[in-house]
Amino acid sequence: MSANRYRLETQTVHAGEPSPRIGGAATVPIFQSSVYELTEGAGYHDIVYPRLNNLPNHTVLARKLAALESGEDGLVTASGMAAITTSLLTVLGQGGHLLTQSSLYGGTHNFVTEDLKKFGLSYDFIDAHRPESWAAKLRPNTRAIYTEALTNPLIEVADHRAVVAFAREHKLVSLIDNTFATPVNFRPLELGYDLSLHSATKYLNGHADLAAGAVIGPAELVSKIRHSLNHLGGCLDPHSCYLLNRGLRTLVLRVRQQNSSARAIAHFLDKHPRVLKVNYPSLESHPQHELAQELFQGFGGVLSFDLEGGTEAARRMIDRVKLPLHGPSLGGTETLIIRPAVSSHAGMSREDRESLGIGDGLVRLSVGIEASEDLIEDLDQALQE
Ligand code: PLP
Repeated sequence: MSANRYRLETQTVHAGEPSPRIGGAATVPIFQSSVYELTEGAGYHDIVYPRLNNLPNHTVLARKLAALESGEDGLVTASGMAAITTSLLTVLGQGGHLLTQSSLYGGTHNFVTEDLKKFGLSYDFIDAHRPESWAAKLRPNTRAIYTEALTNPLIEVADHRAVVAFAREHKLVSLIDNTFATPVNFRPLELGYDLSLHSATKYLNGHADLAAGAVIGPAELVSKIRHSLNHLGGCLDPHSCYLLNRGLRTLVLRVRQQNSSARAIAHFLDKHPRVLKVNYPSLESHPQHELAQELFQGFGGVLSFDLEGGTEAARRMIDRVKLPLHGPSLGGTETLIIRPAVSSHAGMSREDRESLGIGDGLVRLSVGIEASEDLIEDLDQALQE
């Protein structure tokens, strides 16, 4: 570590904060104004205006996010989907073709399969675990390759080193949705990805009280995406920026607790006689157990499992748990439980879901920061006959 690069815990608190502090304040005040005095001669994108992503609330976050993932620049957006769609539309340009991992967050999957064609763009799914099969899917207009750090809800791990090498060889922009890993567990730009995207609604904010997204990457590419965002309008409002910056300050503490709790719960469930299969990379049965250990510092707070008795058993368990909230989303302080088939992946056809291995009875847990022992005791009582 170079002398000017602080450790992650320090950066979450100090990186990007204004110097000198605004009015001496320890936190950046909320710039609740949509009009600012004009400096003549400034270009359109430099006019201070909330939609142009240049309030102090935006810039502090852009700098902090860039520092956390070793990027040159960052950008905050109105949601994770705003980050994903704006980045994809920008890098694909006119008539571009995308190679993408087939197992994707439901919203991204729907955007790729339903919306890209409306903009004259095309895609092909790739098997993220078989790099030797990717070249056959290349077209002259292929411009980008897209993956997720850890997939939802099966927590699979793509061959990320191979993705980076393939992108370099074929001059593609490599994009990764790093929502599930967070910079605490994985910093994709250090591996060689071009762009890291986040639903900051999840771990980065961590308190289930806002929607936001993030883009991190080289300054030139982020600037192009910022220009598209300025036109498409997916800016983050200053109050949400303030909350996100507050949430980021405790990111490392929260995620480390979630890593260790999810691991303990995964190992507990794995030994439980009523549980058929648990999906979590720390388990030796996980198909990418070794790869995950090489790439990540931890595996995050999300795990999924199938129960003996299928959908009915899953429903009964969800009814019986006392601590986890029955709700979608993930990455907050409170534990959440859902069946992906009726929540995150409800927009997908049953056929598509099943081809990805997401059965109706699959249960997903997003582990919060409660005591692991309390969560395990609660899950145990909910699984009793
Ligand atoms: N990426 C992942 C992995 C997600 O889980 C989600 C939402 O659940 C998104 C992106 C979309 O984020 P948002 O809901 O903030 O638009």
